[in-house]
Amino acid sequence: MQIITDPAEMQAIAERLRLQRQFIGVVMTMGALHEGHLSLVRLAQRRAGIVIMTIFVNPMQFGPEEDYERYPRPFEQDAALARSAGVDYLFAPEQGLMYPEGFRCTVDPGPMAERFEGTVRPGHFRGVATVVLKLLNITKAHLAVFGEKDAQQLAIIRRVAADMNVDTKIEAAPISREPDGLAASSRNIYLSPEERERATALHRAIRHAEQETGRGRRDLAAIAKEGLAIVTSAPGSKPDYLCFVDDGTFDPVDTALPGRSYRLVMAVRFGTTRLIDNWRFDCGE
Ligand code: AMP
Repeated sequence: MQIITDPAEMQAIAERLRLQRQFIGVVMTMGALHEGHLSLVRLAQRRAGIVIMTIFVNPMQFGPEEDYERYPRPFEQDAALARSAGVDYLFAPEQGLMYPEGFRCTVDPGPMAERFEGTVRPGHFRGVATVVLKLLNITKAHLAVFGEKDAQQLAIIRRVAADMNVDTKIEAAPISREPDGLAASSRNIYLSPEERERATALHRAIRHAEQETGRGRRDLAAIAKEGLAIVTSAPGSKPDYLCFVDDGTFDPVDTALPGRSYRLVMAVRFGTTRLIDNWRFDCGE
């Protein structure tokens, strides 16, 4: 595995790979790698001959009060994990090379970026869309794999790719979970043992929704309200939102219609840690 820190060098390598008719897959991360990231790598390896992983803690997607400074950066450990997962190139650029003097342009992802995560984290998706477009241009990837864990991010990236005629296939990987259902996240390490235990409430709310829709209920607003009660019953939990949305537009939805896809989305704080989770519901006949 080759480690590259200079965007120009990465771009030159990607160009060479393309001239050799290699099919390039990219997995973008902020590091502190866990099983979720590695599942994205495995999916990329099934689809592409060459896999590039990027590790970049992107300052543009963090708000001033957020955890940019304390975000975990165990680079040696990450590089060892990426190497043993069979990543071909690890692109870990320095901040100054990604945002040099004179940098001005950003990608505005439009109205979908203004709700849910966007309300709580103003400017977050502008930062995400900007760095994703930069990394796609640098890695020249034919395929990019993103996790469903960040479902709103995935929907926004699909929107940006479609609207900007990005010539990269965007592929989704399912959420990787701990044995007790908690979605794997680099931020889980912030949780105290009690908070870690209580955080399973998110998955219990998902299981409840799964059960209720499974027995034919279509009153999504009521099911979400019950899910909220499950989450708030965990001591110390502070939900930011918990509701069903249309899976394509992220518009809130009260009642499910046959043939449509929905997503239960939620963000819940435990102490200073903010967790997100979601579950997709395809409504049958
Ligand atoms: P991050 O390093 O948190 O920015 O995540 C990098 C990529 O990994 C994003 O596409 C995430 O959606 C994805 N990812 C993070 N956690 C998980 C998970 N538990 N399951 C699947 N994908 C994940």
